[in-house]
Amino acid sequence: MVLAQLGGSISRAIQQMSNATIIDEKVLNECLNEITRALLQSDVQFKLVRDMQTNIKKIVNLEDLAAGHNKRKIIQQAIFNELCKMLDPGKPSFTPKKGKTSVVMFVGLQGSGKTTTCTKYAYYHQKKGWKPALVCADTFRAGAFDQLKQNATKAKIPFYGSYMESDPVKIAMEGVERFKKENCDLIIVDTSGRHKQEAALFEEMRQVSEATKPDLVVFVMDSSIGQAAFDQAHAFKQSVAVGAVIVTKMDGHAKGGGALSAVAATKSPVIFIGTGEHMDEFEVFDVKPFVSRLLGMGDWSGFMDKIHEVVPMDQQPELLQKLSEGNFTLRIMYEQFQNILKMGPIGQVFSMLPGFSSELMPKELDSSNPKLMNESRMMRIARGSGRHIREVMEMMEEYKRLAKIWSKMKGLKIPKKGEMSALSRNMNA
Ligand code: GDP
Repeated sequence: MVLAQLGGSISRAIQQMSNATIIDEKVLNECLNEITRALLQSDVQFKLVRDMQTNIKKIVNLEDLAAGHNKRKIIQQAIFNELCKMLDPGKPSFTPKKGKTSVVMFVGLQGSGKTTTCTKYAYYHQKKGWKPALVCADTFRAGAFDQLKQNATKAKIPFYGSYMESDPVKIAMEGVERFKKENCDLIIVDTSGRHKQEAALFEEMRQVSEATKPDLVVFVMDSSIGQAAFDQAHAFKQSVAVGAVIVTKMDGHAKGGGALSAVAATKSPVIFIGTGEHMDEFEVFDVKPFVSRLLGMGDWSGFMDKIHEVVPMDQQPELLQKLSEGNFTLRIMYEQFQNILKMGPIGQVFSMLPGFSSELMPKELDSSNPKLMNESRMMRIARGSGRHIREVMEMMEEYKRLAKIWSKMKGLKIPKKGEMSALSRNMNA
């Protein structure tokens, strides 16, 4: 069961419970059983699911809830909170600080996406002004150094490794020393993976860790490993001080429940997720928005904050309606950029748009089909607005990118007036 299906099943269970005329023990049990089934099918560890059920029952004591209490909301809130708790070990991971050297060591099984993730992690921080460096201490897999070298070169990140040296501890130490001298503030050490957990892998990892003294050990886990996630994560945690988890391949058809188990096994938070093979297909992981998206609520709290910030009050309902119909047109992009323009400096980035708009025909502005904008139309717009064709093409690329993001809004239920603030309050509670 992929994560979207898991979310769908949980939402349906909550909906069914909400539809019942009276919420009694039987209705609550049915709802919790449905959720339990869905979580187990998604490979979440049995003990975690059982604990969750017990906790919800403890919080939602129907007998103690006097008439007048909104039982539906209380149950819904308890489910939301328990799912968040499963993903949140209660303490944040070590966060490297810009300008101060940190060593971050990556561990995981072969094929989990460890090497790819090292580069994504480095690239993410580089874009934010860090000075990262990559060390390849994987001497086991032929081609591991070449892969890291290729990725690092593409991202213009310094790297260290060796084709000759077979001792990973020596390479790791040399690499870390070198980059410390070069004042890199984020030194990332990629270690060997094996097909399965084996003593030699753990011993090697332990030695690399002892030699490089990492500030953070990141356990990289493929989201498709299923029920094996708990034991695997636990085994790694036993050998090295895992402090954070990164779950890869969340873009695939994997059962995502393993991520929840990995958090429980390592008592460490998921800090990023991998959503594709490319360098920038990498997202910071936040528990509350993730769970609300999982439950089909969308990240309304964050989204509405943004809408309130930028869109004038009287335009908000219409915009939300259009987005929920999956209708993201160039006109919407233009109007919203104009709203952003009013916000100040960020507007300068888009200052070219007003020129474009008068050159665009209504049909072009209101179409949500980017194919309509063929080359001759783009040439006409470029000539009319005194811009280079390249700028028009860039605008269309930006439009396509935003349209892809907004297409995910299609079909989302828009909360009615009054429900929104309650929902935001609940989520942020
Ligand atoms: P390692 O053996 O753990 O170092 O794994 P690699 O980094 O070599 O990755 C194994 C494969 O998974 C490669 O083909 C990667 O491109 C792919 N991969 C890694 N992360 C992701 C991801 O988030 N999504 C997808 N679709 N593929 C990924």
